[in-house]
This record gives sequence, C-alpha cells and structure tokens, in this order.
Amino acid sequence: MTTIQRIWRLRNRLIRLSGTKCQDCGLVTYPPKAACPKCGSRNLIEIELPREGEVLTYTVLNIPIKGFEQYAPLIIAIIKLGEAKVLAQLTDVKPEEVRVGMRVQATIRRTAPTLDGVVPYVVKFKPIRGEEADLKEREAEALTA
Ligand SMILES: [Zn+2]
Repeated sequence: MTTIQRIWRLRNRLIRLSGTKCQDCGLVTYPPKAACPKCGSRNLIEIELPREGEVLTYTVLNIPIKGFEQYAPLIIAIIKLGEAKVLAQLTDVKPEEVRVGMRVQATIRRTAPTLDGVVPYVVKFKPIRGEEADLKEREAEALTA
C-alpha cells in the first residue's frame, strides 16, 4: 500500500468524529467520555458528530509551547458541531480572517512529533471555501446599511 493510500485510510478513520451523548442529561461531549462531565452518569451512547460546524469563539496563541513554535500563531477555537462544542485548532486561515460564526469543516493534519518521535495526525478545522467571503460580504453590507 502506498503512503497516500495509508494516509487516505487513516484520514477516513480519524475524521469520523465520535462523541458521546449522556442519556440522562443530554450533554454531548467530544472526544468520547466514560462518564458525563456534567452529571456524572455513565449511561452514555456513542454518536457521530457532523464534520462541519461554526466558530463560537476563538483565541490566538502567538507564543506556543516548546516544540510547537513553527506552528505560531496557533488559532484555538470552540466550534459548534451539531449538539457538541469542540475545542480544536483552526488551520488554513490567518488570525485576522477568523470570524465568530465562520463555517468550518474537519480535516486531518500532521502535528509536531511527540517526545518519542511519533508524528501524530490530529483533527483540525479549516474554513469552508466561499463561506468566508460570504461572511465578510454580509459584514460589509451590515456596516453600510
Ligand atoms: Zn449527563
């Protein structure tokens, strides 16, 4: 199997965003939990989250921790994915382009090697093309209206 095929398989596996939903209080969490962080119930079911969502809020880290310097600035966002709120990194976007309400989609990216030399792949979120321009247009319209 070629590397490309392997990455593609990995991508399909990793990009399935599994969360858990509490059957007692309804809280949806990602990544999956063994117990509900809100009510402590262990009565949870696994659910698949949508791959597209919306930026609820975000922050920009200009000085990341050691080993992540080449990724600066890091944009960390809370993203509404269906019923879940997910903390994740944004990619393929500059800090000044990020907007609350921006539509984003899950993507798989390499991250910094761990101390034992493993290069992990993680889920990040990137803007959905076209949406970004639409949002800026709507903002501009709102300002001139
Ligand atoms: Zn609960």
